[in-house]
Amino acid sequence: MPNATTDYQLKCVANGHLNSEEKTTTYCSECDSVLRVVYNSPSGDLKYPLQQLVPDPLKTHPTALKKLDRLSDTYNADLSAKLEFQHPTGCFKDRGSYIEVQKALELNADAICLASTGNMAASVAAYACYFNIPCFVFVPEKTTEAKLAQATIFDANIIRIKGSFSTCEQLCRQFAKSGNYYLAGDFVFREEGQKSFSYELFEQGGTDVEYILIPIGCGTNFSAIFKGFQEMKEGGLIDQIPKFVAIQPDQSSPVVEGIFKKEKIVKDQVQTMASSVAVPDPVDFYKVLEAIDQTDGMAVTVTEDEILDALKELAVVEGHFVEPAGALPLAALKKHKDTFKNKKCLLVTTGSGFKDTKVVTKHSLTSPVLSPDLNKVIKYINSGFIGMQKESWGKSRDTFMANLKMDEEHEKLYNQYMSKINKKGKTLSNNEIEALQSLIFDEDADLDYPVEVLDYKLTMRKHGLVHAEVKLDQQGQEIISEAKGVGPIDAILSAIRSHTDNVFPLEVDNHEVDILSPDTDSLVMVTLTLSNSEQQWISKAASPDTLEAVIQAFTKGLAIAMKS
Ligand SMILES: *Cc1c(COP(=O)(O)O)cnc(C)c1O
Ligand SMILES: [Zn+2]
Repeated sequence: MPNATTDYQLKCVANGHLNSEEKTTTYCSECDSVLRVVYNSPSGDLKYPLQQLVPDPLKTHPTALKKLDRLSDTYNADLSAKLEFQHPTGCFKDRGSYIEVQKALELNADAICLASTGNMAASVAAYACYFNIPCFVFVPEKTTEAKLAQATIFDANIIRIKGSFSTCEQLCRQFAKSGNYYLAGDFVFREEGQKSFSYELFEQGGTDVEYILIPIGCGTNFSAIFKGFQEMKEGGLIDQIPKFVAIQPDQSSPVVEGIFKKEKIVKDQVQTMASSVAVPDPVDFYKVLEAIDQTDGMAVTVTEDEILDALKELAVVEGHFVEPAGALPLAALKKHKDTFKNKKCLLVTTGSGFKDTKVVTKHSLTSPVLSPDLNKVIKYINSGFIGMQKESWGKSRDTFMANLKMDEEHEKLYNQYMSKINKKGKTLSNNEIEALQSLIFDEDADLDYPVEVLDYKLTMRKHGLVHAEVKLDQQGQEIISEAKGVGPIDAILSAIRSHTDNVFPLEVDNHEVDILSPDTDSLVMVTLTLSNSEQQWISKAASPDTLEAVIQAFTKGLAIAMKS
């Protein structure tokens, strides 16, 4: 059973200055260094620096320590993982948020505030909400939807800031001084919460490993796990501390670079799909350096491709779907497999894959939407698209797009579309090609068009209705049709319908316009919902010209309706 204790001191890491927690819970008030909790008597018990400990109300079970049998075979090593994504909010941060929130209450703060790339915001929000203390989270504009959703559901006051995590951090530090606010984050009391990882591992019989591989952002989790091991050794629970391996993406590696230089590095900017570790100014750098020095550990970087590879392998081989940061340990193991050969290693898989599903969509092909028609489904399965979709993971799209097999009729349709688009002098982006292919996979290749629009002319006035004149071809016969509308789309559809309604009357129930990129020459996808008194039809078309897409969607819809 963990203990609450007031028998400790707050010491700064650089110079050993003593600090009072009433004055600071973040940086040393004398030298600005980070702080550490030092207990006055060593013991083998998990201690928390609190007067009173409320049991964690959200946590229901320890996170699993899982043997990775298949990966052990592949890499000739004895591998296990601690599944830290099994925490209540899907990430290990809960260990620290639980203690930080209690400390904030103990210090009578009016609210908690913090800056976060998302996971800490979600986690502190959950505990602050449960313990009834207001919470302000400062997050960068690019924070993933899932993480924002968690902060939202737990009633956090969300402050989204234009800029990176570091911008948020600086602003939040100023904000903290503007009231009686507890500044949460990668600070000393979080470390005390997150060290419970090591005690839990001991109880699971898992501390006897040679290497422990941990992804690094600020380095707080790394140093917390190390502190847990140190305390357990001092308390006589264990004899040996494993070698600590710090891993960062090569696009965001101030800690790893700093380890080699033996001094802290701060980056201007960092760019990686592993957004949870995209930290330019790693608060706990010196603690990480110390842990690596004392354990004869390692610091390594991995590329973005290596992260994607490891993320996929962990899912396919072992069944665990993690967010990119959580895949860093396996990526490092794969990269340095000779170092880890025949060794007993623990991978810390830090966050759930549900935190960032966009990474998956971004690196794979989207499935086209098909009509509920078995023939179409079978044609689609035989087209080779699905196989390609699986192979496409993390690779450039250009090559396999070119290899896509369609049946002859759909190939023809696709080429018709392409020639029209090329005539407008537009080249399609991959995402536009995908949308177009998806559209065509679902199209009837043998439709008869009762009418075609040959030409049109619009007269627009700044104030007043738009006048449309349309030249139609109906089975070889040219017809001119005119109408007015409130805007160009309305005018043109009215003009077409003023003729076609005589042949087959159709209402336009709904029209949706999807613009596929921010460019002014973006491909536009138009979806029309058409009906008569008995039935409804949906028709889609695409063009860089919105009006042309509307015209195509309507004439196609008419063909579909008349066929049915
Ligand atoms: C926060 C986080 C990390 C990095 O932890 P630090 O304590 O900042 O080094 C790694 N993975 C995930 C999923 C995280 O949320
Ligand atoms: Zn100091």
